Amino acid sequence: MPVSSPEVFSAEYAGACFGVSRALDLTLKTAESAKGRVFTLGPLIHNPLVTQELAKKGIRALDENDIEHLLPTDTVILRTHGITKALYTRISKRTTHIVDATCPFVKNVHTEAQAFEANGYEVVIAGEPKHPETLGIQGQVQKAFIVEDANDLPPNLIGKKVGIVAQTTQTHEMLNSIVSAAKLHASEVVVKDTICDATKKRQEATERLAQDVDCMLIIGGKNSANTTRLFEIASRYTLAFYIENPEEVSAKDFANFAKIGISAGASTPVAHIKRVRDILKNSSKNTT
Ligand code: SF4
Repeated sequence: MPVSSPEVFSAEYAGACFGVSRALDLTLKTAESAKGRVFTLGPLIHNPLVTQELAKKGIRALDENDIEHLLPTDTVILRTHGITKALYTRISKRTTHIVDATCPFVKNVHTEAQAFEANGYEVVIAGEPKHPETLGIQGQVQKAFIVEDANDLPPNLIGKKVGIVAQTTQTHEMLNSIVSAAKLHASEVVVKDTICDATKKRQEATERLAQDVDCMLIIGGKNSANTTRLFEIASRYTLAFYIENPEEVSAKDFANFAKIGISAGASTPVAHIKRVRDILKNSSKNTT
């Protein structure tokens, strides 16, 4: 006897954010028209399935150490994180075919940091010291301090004008604590809130949905920090499954759940969510 299909709900915010969708589109369009080889500078996103799909189209990840081996006919696509001016110069000495897929929100942080410096402010970046995005911001100006913890503010800011920007994925709590600490020492503190709430929105939406379903499927690369975080959040409230490849999902395995929730990290293409939904919705046809 066929059973009824489970109800399948997607989180209000799930899957590729604006910047990642844009970078994927740009990459695919570039590959269609490029005459020579096409590389992304490092993996375009943390999703092995997407990396494989891009490799099938001839788009490969380039290691920074291999920049000097580029040919003038090669095309290099810059990731959403952005890069330093110095790295851009290294690439442009090898090829003029550079496609900048830096997220416009990250570009905005570059612009704000440059404006601070041009107006005589000491630039402070609230962010992770080794993250490529933070290093890319730092590499847009002559000098900038990267600060992850309010206690790490450099003492030479005392009495200075300080301009603060944030790595886009930081929390407001972290930014506010650094701003408060800077105000104790600096003669003036100006803050540009450059935090992007795409990650936070996906976490909050996952938390809401997980409380209302019998199980959650979290879709995305197992090397994606933001997808792993969604899995951890969902697991607090319900049975959660981490799905890297939609084809891992078998409708039969989920036929006994009445309400299934789906969420996906900011690096998961929306097509992967749709594929999982389609498989689950077919469970009644496959179950006897
Ligand atoms: S998380 Fe925000 S800043 Fe980062 S790529 Fe996505 S939209 Fe851009």
